Amino acid sequence: MINLILFGPPGSGKGTQAAGLVVKYDLLHISTGDLFRYEIGNNTPLGQKAKSYMDKGELVPDEVTVGMLRNKVEANPNVKGYILDGFPRTIPQSEALDALMSDMGQSISKLIMLDVPDEELVQRLLNRGKTSGRSDDMDETIIRNRINVYTENTTPVFDYYAKQGKSAKVWGIGSLDTIFERLCLEVDFVKG
Ligand code: AMP
Repeated sequence: MINLILFGPPGSGKGTQAAGLVVKYDLLHISTGDLFRYEIGNNTPLGQKAKSYMDKGELVPDEVTVGMLRNKVEANPNVKGYILDGFPRTIPQSEALDALMSDMGQSISKLIMLDVPDEELVQRLLNRGKTSGRSDDMDETIIRNRINVYTENTTPVFDYYAKQGKSAKVWGIGSLDTIFERLCLEVDFVKG
């Protein structure tokens, strides 16, 4: 199995690039943001819990997020691997993920970070907000909060997997195809 973490700040292109990677490598795409939006759309108790945090650009508490991720992984055991997008975002989430993988006799193969400068992220997200229907993409204050939360809470996850020799960084500026090729080089390096 090949289990990837597609990592990077909000607006770095994780969702877009994951869509291509799942096809090429036959992996299951799990986006915790998409899972939360699905729950909110169905007005479930989990969705109601997540909404107040998401509206402010804050992280949903770890126990809620980890439980949801675990359910999704356990509901899909017979896959060739996972591509995680937007998870893990904290060190406790990383530890919980490693424990879950180990329970399944699996491990994370690699974390690949899409590196994009902050000002480019703000412009991309404001642009996406014109069509995404996401309220957290429409307000510059919330966007900047999401980027700050990433810098403070989430970047340590890169170092956590770097200590395991698993972190790689890819430049996230360029055409979609060029960035996809850079990502594939990293994935093929693991596979090979
Ligand atoms: P995303 O779609 O990845 O940009 O996530 C949108 C929002 O969902 C984030 O701003 C958080 O409020 C919440 N969220 C998504 N994934 C996580 C996670 N792994 N941990 C905590 N909150 C998350």
